[in-house]
Amino acid sequence: MPRIYLDHASSMPVDSRVFEFAKPYLRESWGNPSSLHSVGLEAKRAVEESRGKIAEFIHAENESTIIFTGGATEANNLAVKGAALRNITKGKAVIASTIEHMSVLNPMKELQKNGFSLTMLPVDSTGIVDLKKLDSILTKDTVLSSVMYANNEIGTIEPIKDISKIVHEKGGFLHVDAVAAGGRVPIDVQNEGIDLLTLSSNDLYGPPGAGVLYVKPGVKIQSVLLGGGQERGLRSGTENVFALVGMGEAARIAQQEMKQESSRLLPIRDKFIKEILQIDQSYLTGHPTLRLPHHASFRFSFIEGESILLNMDMYGIQVSTGSACSSKTLEPSHVLLAIGLKHEEAHGSMVLTLGRSTSMEDVPVVSKATNETVQRLRRLSPMSQEWRN
Ligand code: PMP
Repeated sequence: MPRIYLDHASSMPVDSRVFEFAKPYLRESWGNPSSLHSVGLEAKRAVEESRGKIAEFIHAENESTIIFTGGATEANNLAVKGAALRNITKGKAVIASTIEHMSVLNPMKELQKNGFSLTMLPVDSTGIVDLKKLDSILTKDTVLSSVMYANNEIGTIEPIKDISKIVHEKGGFLHVDAVAAGGRVPIDVQNEGIDLLTLSSNDLYGPPGAGVLYVKPGVKIQSVLLGGGQERGLRSGTENVFALVGMGEAARIAQQEMKQESSRLLPIRDKFIKEILQIDQSYLTGHPTLRLPHHASFRFSFIEGESILLNMDMYGIQVSTGSACSSKTLEPSHVLLAIGLKHEEAHGSMVLTLGRSTSMEDVPVVSKATNETVQRLRRLSPMSQEWRN
């Protein structure tokens, strides 16, 4: 059975060009970048070159703004806790949008337990944050606001430039989780007024186990991991040179190919949306146009996302669901609840994230499998029978 993988937001294969580029740093140039001898310096040079590629990728001021971490969760923790705690004398208030990833929301909640006031910024039914509300909840004590560039579950792209203007008027910092957006839409931290920005290597077809926090010059944060003082003292621990070098190359390739790849995926995404919405009682989640070019997300009444995922897998098609199974709790996705869906509606979601292996030929196969899956599950669903009666 041919495999159609449509869960690129969860994981991606490492690009073979990236693997070839970074491979020597596992077995040939395996030095520790902190060692002063030639083997160490060779590794250090490669890490610094990678830092430069990532700085270019997001149009940062210079390469010293790029702090490597062990992944996006770590970068988000560093941004949230590091900025709030370092700037505590300015104020003890923080803001997060209701659709942030848990790696932003949970550190925010921890700050709240430790005496910070946390205000949640609501979004509308398409997932766009409420700018007027943002303006009204910001105070001079708000040290940090976190709004993601684009949401991984519903694909909606946020108006980051407008958000940064509002946040800066009150004097706070803006953190942007750009894990889902990186490599799909161009990011310019200077032009968009971003103070802190998170990226993940694996979301760029780079090796897992690497992430980045961009820290704008002049923005002060403190470390959350203490140790040997690597990465300007902001992320201690011996560098994962293979993954860091791979991430830089992945960012370079993404930058070079993004425009072409996004234009290739856009009509495929739109065709998926058109075909799947033919199914009775199916709805698009997220914004119809302000959405990532590789992202199509749906909900179907009367059925559950986990059953959809498992049924689709039997057709050789891998998809994701924002509900219970993926979040390891019985609660539906907080993102789908935040856009105003009822619990039972939020349970029936299916997320397709397209990638370099996706082609237009996949659309009829996936649409047919989705239709058959939805009809089969509805035949078994007591909710659906009640609706029909
Ligand atoms: N932010 C977003 C938007 C994500 O989708 C994810 C998960 N890919 C993360 C942060 C955390 O990434 P990781 O689990 O790789 O640390």
